[in-house]
Amino acid sequence: MNSLSRRKFLKISGATIATAAVLASSAKSIVNAAENVTKKNGLQIIPSYCDLCFWKCGLLAYVKDGKLWKVEGNPKDPLSNGRLCPRGTGGVGAHYDTERLKSPLIRKNLRGEEKWVEVTWNEAFDYIADKMNKMKATYGPEAMALFSHGIGGNFIKHLLRAFGSPNETAPSFAQCRGPREVGFELTFGDVVGSPERTDIENAKCIVLIGSHLGENMHNTQVQEFSHAVEKGASIIVVDPRFSVAASKAKYYLPIKPGTDMALLLAWMSVIVNEKLYDADYISKYGNGFEQFAAEVSQYTPEWAYIETGIDPELIRETAREMVRYKPATLIHPGRHATWYGDDAQRSRAIALLNALMGSWGRKGGFYVPYSYSIPKYPYPSYPELMKEPLDNPNGKYPFATGEQISTGIREATITGQPYPIKGWFIYGTNLMQALPNRDETIKALQNLDLMVVVDVIPSEIAGWADVVLPESVYLERYDDLNASPFREGFVGIRQPAVEEPNDQKPNWWMAKKLGEKLGLGAYFPWKDIEEYLDIRLKLAGHSLTEIKKEGIIKGPKKPIYYDNGVEPEFLTPSGKIEFYSTQLAKAGFDPVPRYTKHPEPPVGYFRLLYGRAPVHTFSKTQSNPILADLMSENEIWVNADLAEKYGMKTGDRIKLKNQDGVISDPIKVRATERIRQDCVYMVHGFGQKSRQLRSTYKKGASDAELVTKYNTDPLMGGTAMNVNFVTFEMEV
Ligand code: SF4
Repeated sequence: MNSLSRRKFLKISGATIATAAVLASSAKSIVNAAENVTKKNGLQIIPSYCDLCFWKCGLLAYVKDGKLWKVEGNPKDPLSNGRLCPRGTGGVGAHYDTERLKSPLIRKNLRGEEKWVEVTWNEAFDYIADKMNKMKATYGPEAMALFSHGIGGNFIKHLLRAFGSPNETAPSFAQCRGPREVGFELTFGDVVGSPERTDIENAKCIVLIGSHLGENMHNTQVQEFSHAVEKGASIIVVDPRFSVAASKAKYYLPIKPGTDMALLLAWMSVIVNEKLYDADYISKYGNGFEQFAAEVSQYTPEWAYIETGIDPELIRETAREMVRYKPATLIHPGRHATWYGDDAQRSRAIALLNALMGSWGRKGGFYVPYSYSIPKYPYPSYPELMKEPLDNPNGKYPFATGEQISTGIREATITGQPYPIKGWFIYGTNLMQALPNRDETIKALQNLDLMVVVDVIPSEIAGWADVVLPESVYLERYDDLNASPFREGFVGIRQPAVEEPNDQKPNWWMAKKLGEKLGLGAYFPWKDIEEYLDIRLKLAGHSLTEIKKEGIIKGPKKPIYYDNGVEPEFLTPSGKIEFYSTQLAKAGFDPVPRYTKHPEPPVGYFRLLYGRAPVHTFSKTQSNPILADLMSENEIWVNADLAEKYGMKTGDRIKLKNQDGVISDPIKVRATERIRQDCVYMVHGFGQKSRQLRSTYKKGASDAELVTKYNTDPLMGGTAMNVNFVTFEMEV
């Protein structure tokens, strides 16, 4: 880890402990709920895994005098390696957050007015079950849809499947990493997955294209990136903004937004025309290389210069730099890939560039991950589905994977086609911030007969619900087992370290109790989650008692590269890496990626870009008092010369107006040389509008509110959101 990151980690750990101590003194007495915990110097140490983002790092929760004191990384956990990220270290604040939901609520007035009646759990479940049963009788079970995010949604998914609905979706696909998965699957026959199978640790050259390692703070990747930098890896960063990662780069390419495909094609043309690719790898594993080479060779660096603004010689030099370290050259696939509308093709271009390096399946490129095999719970079969999911009617987006398109479900809720959707169950995702075009979301939810939100805080989407169910935070509950695919097989457990301060309940309990009310008790045969977990673990030759002690069980080490024993397998139509994609050609799409010119901002407007902050997970963590101390609002990055031209300076508050006339809440200016003049940048998730979250209400501005326009990826239905332009409103 570089010294900057190390200092940051230490600083935040100190802040965590101090703030937690103050909060603990005023919190309700809490009792350790875990058995067999390690005890040291009067402390109880309970292993679990983090939920402040989806990464699921293993942690140790320290409980002192019955109160949650701090969390640290679990040294036995392969994802955290004994170190949490700054956000994860602040997880204690989620437990002590005074703005948490405390009891079940039923809506009193109109949707969105945020007027509630507190009810008992029994009353809440009676209300939901009655509505769901009526819906099933009138429209069929498929009228109920689930939007979910994270492992905590597993039991609710099970409930909806038992109910008979095929409609379950997560915005993390079509609003985030979906295009990447499709682009890689079309090329290699397999997805990148989560956590990404990137071998950053061993890469000798790392290329980041609009990917903000360090700011996105996905712990394992950031640790590996720091090690790679320390070991002298050559870093190439392509970004209109000089990101944290750019500060570590040997080459920084400040590209014109919207033109990344031009750069990728030009890089490939240099490598093809100069025959710098891994010829052995391509002849063994590639298919359609000649057609591919003929297509990309036309995109010269001189041509790309006009599009991207990047010097042709720099394009050549960086292409040769990548080649120098092949196959340990990793062109990172990124994560949030929904930018302009041709995103699956851009991701495919990234996959193809990696294929030219021979890095897929090779050390320093993309390893072959594997999961520790834990059998599923032996549930009865789900009822036969009577209708297809409606997110992608008639296969409109032919290369959407099995993951469903959230905006497709939203659209069907508005139109009632191909069949009506009348209920939304929403778990752990703030759809107001996650989906583009908020008006469409509001229009859809006004058509519902039932809207249920499960959350730990009164999020914006909870403000629109009929029933709000308050969930225990991750440090107070069990969840399903984590056996994420990774470079080594493991299974991790989430278990409670402390009790809930009020009447909050875990998701598994809600699913079981509601299931019983719906007459679906046969799908919840276990007494409680401990029994469920124990049965699953025993099927794999382990037990709950065994895993609770250290939080992790590891599998035997296996080879993860083609060069040390993994048999290459490409699940494509040709059984090889598809340089030329016949399946794309058959469906009427470009078999080799081509350049599409994207509209540029009109005069006086600037492209709105957004991203992550290391201490927050969007709107989910902003009321966490520890993390709010570290960052309580976002800023708008404006090029310093541009700011001067408009008479703005750092710290001024302005509003942003988008191309459709939508005006943001006031946001602080950050005038900086670190961004181009044709775009502005802000951290996503701020400016949230839930009145129940007093500490975060209208803090900063919401990029989501300004994302009224989006392009849909014709291959897979992803919603591209970097297509909105804003101008400055000086009167605040
Ligand atoms: S990356 Fe950070 S927030 Fe996410 S799970 Fe790991 S420690 Fe928690």
